[in-house]
Amino acid sequence: MIKQLLFIPGPVTCAPEVLAALARPLVDHRGPEFAAALERITTGMQPLFGTSAEVLVLGASGTGGLEAAVASSFSPGQKILACPVGIFGKRLVAIAKTYGLAVETLETPLGHALDANALGERLRSDGAHEFAGILLTHNETSTGVQNEMASLAAAIGDHPATVVVDSVSGLGATAFAMDAWRFDVVVTASQKVLAAPPGLAVAAVSSRAWDRMASARIPRFYFDLQKAREFAKQGQTPWTPPVSIAFALEAALERYETETPARVYARHDRYARAIRAFAAAAGIDVFSHPGAHSVTVVAMHAPKGCDVAAIRKELREEHGIVLGGGQAELKGKILRMGTMGDLGPADVLRGLEALEAVLRRQGFDVTPETGTNAARAVLEEHLTTALR
Ligand SMILES: *Cc1c(COP(=O)(O)O)cnc(C)c1O
Repeated sequence: MIKQLLFIPGPVTCAPEVLAALARPLVDHRGPEFAAALERITTGMQPLFGTSAEVLVLGASGTGGLEAAVASSFSPGQKILACPVGIFGKRLVAIAKTYGLAVETLETPLGHALDANALGERLRSDGAHEFAGILLTHNETSTGVQNEMASLAAAIGDHPATVVVDSVSGLGATAFAMDAWRFDVVVTASQKVLAAPPGLAVAAVSSRAWDRMASARIPRFYFDLQKAREFAKQGQTPWTPPVSIAFALEAALERYETETPARVYARHDRYARAIRAFAAAAGIDVFSHPGAHSVTVVAMHAPKGCDVAAIRKELREEHGIVLGGGQAELKGKILRMGTMGDLGPADVLRGLEALEAVLRRQGFDVTPETGTNAARAVLEEHLTTALR
């Protein structure tokens, strides 16, 4: 296998020191060394969430964190307003339905962000406050769409529903203000912006949500935030956690802090703009609509006359460049390029050069270097020396 650069929206390319942390000798997961790692992760993650609330680490992928959030927050039969804008939002709906919640869905066309006015209007017509919960997605990885969370928070206003947010592929890449926005349970995972391997979900829980959880009656066992909270008080998790992934996440958080959040935000934004500039110059339509673009993943319509599976196969096998395709109903229709992970500007350019070459080889009509020069201009914005 040739060395690969991952441009899928998780898991992502990890830095060498993050991978090296995986090789640390294992410790007692109920001993002081692991407690120190947990403490480091939970306090280190608070600024990313924009919260002073408790942060919990769960041995699970992002979906496990979302399942824990839903199962721990509600009782069967409660009415929930779900606001999916793509496939991950629909997964959250599926979780809620699995646990017997009465889910009403506020529909948004694919490629668009959730309309804050539509959300506000629906909630204003819920004068009796029948909705016990609201399910939101921060960044919809399947369509490359990012919701404007501040305006969604404003639209929710003082509606008392418990707000659960999937920020699995968003948290850390833009400023997030859980406390100011009064979100109740926000979930992320190790293998996206933080650029650690997959295996840990991280959830922040508001004090209001904790109070309500005391009477939440959905049956649950493994994915129980209250149980996680009890053990967290002793620096533990209820079940054996992926200890090595926690060490890697600790190292990844260290890197995040050293780079500084402002530079991390700018990096994702710059890479996403470079990819969109590539697409625009090459004549490929971006799937997300203006104002709704994600900074962690860019979804592009399939270039005219090209087969997405063939593009991805050739990129992977001939160039070691791994891009995402479309999921579910978007399969074969879009190509997705993530910006997360330990990637430098030269890596992004290399990925786009390979994409341009493969598209040309597959008969797509683009003059050499049209797209890559447009991307290069964006990637070089903040550099003092030219890329290659
Ligand atoms: C990756 C992702 C998830 C979780 O996926 P897992 O495979 O369970 O980690 C959930 N929501 C969004 C928006 C994601 O990008």
